[in-house]
Amino acid sequence: MTPEELKQLIRTVPDFPKPGIMFRDVTTLIGHGAGLAAATEILADKARDAGAHAIAGIEARGFIFGAAAAARLGVPFVPVRKPGKLPVPVLAMDYALEYGTDTLEVDPAAVIDGQSVVLIDDLIATGGTAHAAVQLLRRAGAVVSRGLFVIDLPALGGADRLRGADLTVDAIMA
Ligand code: 5GP
Repeated sequence: MTPEELKQLIRTVPDFPKPGIMFRDVTTLIGHGAGLAAATEILADKARDAGAHAIAGIEARGFIFGAAAAARLGVPFVPVRKPGKLPVPVLAMDYALEYGTDTLEVDPAAVIDGQSVVLIDDLIATGGTAHAAVQLLRRAGAVVSRGLFVIDLPALGGADRLRGADLTVDAIMA
């Protein structure tokens, strides 16, 4: 399937999670077997081309695409988790949301020093979430130079923000 065909599989839900937001819902993409396979293949090919020794995915939707791509390449998967989920001492990073803050956590033992890790998530908007994940992975010893997303919303400036953090952003669709 082409990126244009994959785009047709994304459901846009108005006013979620709050009024005025047009939520790009990937549930309909992952619920389509050929769509999930095609998206996984595209992400895995891009990660291989970027020299990934491992793939990191952001909880929760980044786990779906990240783990599928890692399995396809036969490389390790590194979960970037929401707070309080990992049963070991973690590296943690707070980041700003539109209202308030959130936190991401990584098990430092999940990354080998100097390993090239490609970050995968379903969507990049402002880039705040991906930026925090990259900082964490770098603190854990990873070399992170590529972020892969199913959807980029370029108007929200995420790719530009991450370029300033030495991260090249690539996506299946905008
Ligand atoms: P950012 O930090 O780049 O502003 O927001 C991206 C994060 O929020 C990602 O982890 C993504 O899963 C989630 N997100 C924000 N907006 C949407 C959306 O419209 N659709 C989906 N699927 N995720 C979103």
